[in-house]
Amino acid sequence: MPSRILTMVMLVAVSMSVGCKRTEKAGYFGDLRKDKTEECALLLSQASKQIGQYMASHNSKYPPTLVDAGFSGTCPVTGKAYVYAAPQDIPSDMSTIIACEAGNGHSRGHLYMKADTSIAIVTEEQFKNELAKPVNAAIAAAFKAAQ
Ligand SMILES: [Zn+2]
Repeated sequence: MPSRILTMVMLVAVSMSVGCKRTEKAGYFGDLRKDKTEECALLLSQASKQIGQYMASHNSKYPPTLVDAGFSGTCPVTGKAYVYAAPQDIPSDMSTIIACEAGNGHSRGHLYMKADTSIAIVTEEQFKNELAKPVNAAIAAAFKAAQ
């Protein structure tokens, strides 16, 4: 299977470049690539772009669902759809989480989206702490329901 061989060659190339990065101390981004964190972050960025476009044409209202914004991507590791909780209005606290990964597929952390549609990644422990905040009650309930 030539395509399989090609994939293996690419994987070797990636591991080699990761190895080089390690020598300059930070293997962090190498690890992000290896467990598809970067790919997942790109998908979530795409979702944030589409939310922004939706809001621009809907009187600054968040889309009721991600599908309403034209987004139907899933985490490349868990295959699960992203959890989303649309605020009624633009929250006063823009660090309010509006979307996140349903599972924890990445060894380096949990990806989520804030109300300003910026993307963040934190450890699972930090993510749990974020969900415990009162401003994140809606996303915490949606996250729990998705488990
Ligand atoms: Zn993911």
